[in-house]
Amino acid sequence: MCTWALCMQQDSLVYADPKKQERYDRAYMRMASEWSKLSHCTRKQVGALIVKEGMIISDGYNGTPTGFPNDCEDAEGLTHWYVLHAEANAIMKVARSTNNARGATLYLTHSPCKECSKLIMQAGIKRLVYLDAYKDPSGLELLRNGGLMVHKLEDLPSR
Ligand SMILES: [Zn+2]
Repeated sequence: MCTWALCMQQDSLVYADPKKQERYDRAYMRMASEWSKLSHCTRKQVGALIVKEGMIISDGYNGTPTGFPNDCEDAEGLTHWYVLHAEANAIMKVARSTNNARGATLYLTHSPCKECSKLIMQAGIKRLVYLDAYKDPSGLELLRNGGLMVHKLEDLPSR
């Protein structure tokens, strides 16, 4: 059993029907996956989508800040330090808007790194759905410890 507050919180985060939730999770993840293809990075392409109360409020993919050259990697193939991760871009896009990510769900094609997991938590995001596990599980551990619902989707057949 859960406490009243936690039950209420989860009620607003997921549909009561798990099959319906799975259909929506997959549909949103397909969009996040499409968004990842917009990335100019060659080493790894990551897509993010932020959904709040049934509405897509933000999107992002990994890349350089606005106004910088699109190349993510240097001549040696190493990623420039100033490349923003997909979820950081999506969270910052909310910051530029009049909306906020409190109580939202983040769809991410790859599990988040340590740095981004801190941003996810502080943005008030309450649920993470991801597809591929990043090599370092520290980010996921932080989010679980922080009380977020974390859900891994099985591979999308269309990818
Ligand atoms: Zn990151």
